[in-house]
Amino acid sequence: MERKFALLTFGCQMNIHDSERVAGLLEREGWVETEPESADAVILITCCVRESAERKLYARLAGLRTVKEKGAVIAVGGCLAQKEGERLRERAPHVDLVFGTHRYPGIASLLEKAARGAVCSTSMDGLSLRGLPCRKREGFRCWVTITNGCDNFCTYCVVPYVRGREMSRPLEEVLEEVGAHVAGGAREVNLLGQNVDSYRRKEEGRSRFADLLRILGSSFPGVWLRFTTSHPRDFDLEVMRAIAETPGVCEYVHLPVQAGSDRVLEAMGRGYGRDEYLEKALALRREVVDVALSTDIMVGFPGESEEDFLATLELVEACRFETAYTFVFNPRPGTPAALLGDDVPPEVKRDRMARLTELTRRLTAQALLAEVGREREALVHGPSRRDSGFWVARTRKNFPVHFQRSVEDLTGRLVRVRVTGAGSWSLRGRLVEVLG
Ligand code: SAM
Ligand code: SF4
Repeated sequence: MERKFALLTFGCQMNIHDSERVAGLLEREGWVETEPESADAVILITCCVRESAERKLYARLAGLRTVKEKGAVIAVGGCLAQKEGERLRERAPHVDLVFGTHRYPGIASLLEKAARGAVCSTSMDGLSLRGLPCRKREGFRCWVTITNGCDNFCTYCVVPYVRGREMSRPLEEVLEEVGAHVAGGAREVNLLGQNVDSYRRKEEGRSRFADLLRILGSSFPGVWLRFTTSHPRDFDLEVMRAIAETPGVCEYVHLPVQAGSDRVLEAMGRGYGRDEYLEKALALRREVVDVALSTDIMVGFPGESEEDFLATLELVEACRFETAYTFVFNPRPGTPAALLGDDVPPEVKRDRMARLTELTRRLTAQALLAEVGREREALVHGPSRRDSGFWVARTRKNFPVHFQRSVEDLTGRLVRVRVTGAGSWSLRGRLVEVLG
């Protein structure tokens, strides 16, 4: 009899990618995907970077009691599952399977076992991705893990505890996987790691990330390459030059700054100071013509004074980020920063967040406006969700651009558009030509 699974994913690109693996593995075993209401197994891939993600997950889990009563296996995997282990079942006893971030290759047999009685599998030794099937979200884009885990232990962050120590995949394995995706029609490859700039440093004594970009660029000409996340301590001139000199690598770098005050950066354990970050941002803009710089910024870290916060605003202004993702500090149990005392009052956090987003929005709007009148290459993602009469594409600088729909389906095609207008978050354009 055909077995059916439903997959619910919470959190970042890493989790979405883990879900692609889980779906690929189950489909290889003959399972088919369906809605939770008609599934034999409902699998939740979870996040625990902020408390709000955990709350959302438990609320969703509570809503699954009815499908459990109909006989479905409820499985929780990913970061929260790794962090909570058995505790998760204490809070949500209707969960049959808890599986950690290194356990999803065994998902099919874990589900079978869990159908006979509750299972908790969270050991973190041995994760090999070689040859594991992976279901692609879209035919034209793919995500390929180059490093797993993280060794940085930024004091606020739970990732190293739930994803384990950093491990880089061998170059041949990455090439093999990218090759398979490209053969299957991928036009854009997104390389994933918590700190891509340390790719193979542990194994080979020096980072091979710049080499990886060059090798992928020459092995797969015409394919767009993107990567996330870069770490400001390790992001160096060699990588900047590899970006500049490899035509496939898109002019977009996500380089999380987190804060602009040396004191706060030190307390966060980031391993760089304000000046070093700014120098790298300026060097990047010099080395890579017309690059877009994106970042993550956190407000309200323990002990953050008004002066510290003003230093963040100043650095943000100096870096002129094209895109910024902003977060309010949230103490995560088990991390060193959680012991510092969450001493910035909520109203001060709110006020700082409002001032920060006002600035980052202004910078984004200015960056978008500067695109008007330019011709840009863009990869079409599909019909716009907001306005079905338009296609939505992403330029190499990762700006969304909307342009009028034609009869021909352009999903997954590379196009050239002339940018005719800019909104707060996206561009408007006119199709110039279809490139391929
Ligand atoms: N490895 C990446 C890096 O170094 O930036 C990203 C990891 S993390 C999943 C993504 C973002 O979440 C971080 O850049 C940080 O701004 C934010 N974040 C992590 N822990 C947080 C916490 N405890 N409170 C608020 N934001 C947090
Ligand atoms: Fe977390 Fe820092 Fe590692 Fe990023 S680099 S995952 S913020 S510990």
